Amino acid sequence: MTIKKILTEPNKLLRQISEPVLQVGESEKELMNDMLDTMYESNGIGLAAIQIGVPKRIIVMDINKDKDSKNPMYFVNPIIINKNKEILTYEEGCLSVPGQFAEIDRPSQCEVEYLDYNGDKKILKAKGLLATCIQHEMDHLEGILFIDYLSKLKKTIIIKKLSKQKEKSERIVV
Ligand code: ZN
Repeated sequence: MTIKKILTEPNKLLRQISEPVLQVGESEKELMNDMLDTMYESNGIGLAAIQIGVPKRIIVMDINKDKDSKNPMYFVNPIIINKNKEILTYEEGCLSVPGQFAEIDRPSQCEVEYLDYNGDKKILKAKGLLATCIQHEMDHLEGILFIDYLSKLKKTIIIKKLSKQKEKSERIVV
């Protein structure tokens, strides 16, 4: 198990469409373990493989706030097969958009078909925070970030801020 570096916007990889997984084998399981460790380390509740630079349709999540009772969830090749019309608004953040938050509207419930950690086909009916989180993570598989739902102006301001932060953090003083 290894903690990986989480890519942050702006980064071309985050805009890439991830590829379906053909089989859940040892390397995919290892990837999921690394993703989960990386997510916990950063206090996130969800992470898509592309956020650590791997363009595979894999998501890990744990929306449990109590750190002592972990409830990791794994989604391979997730597809939304149903969603309702009712909208839920959450203030979202993202490990790839550090320090930025915005209220985003999404369907309040969705039904997801996916393969689990063992490669078994599953269907999950999600609502509330779980539904929001799954949809946020699934957007990553399409190269979409939550800031894409904001006005062009707001998005531009956020990306400028992030670029500046990046320049600072990459500056080396010797
Ligand atoms: Zn995210």
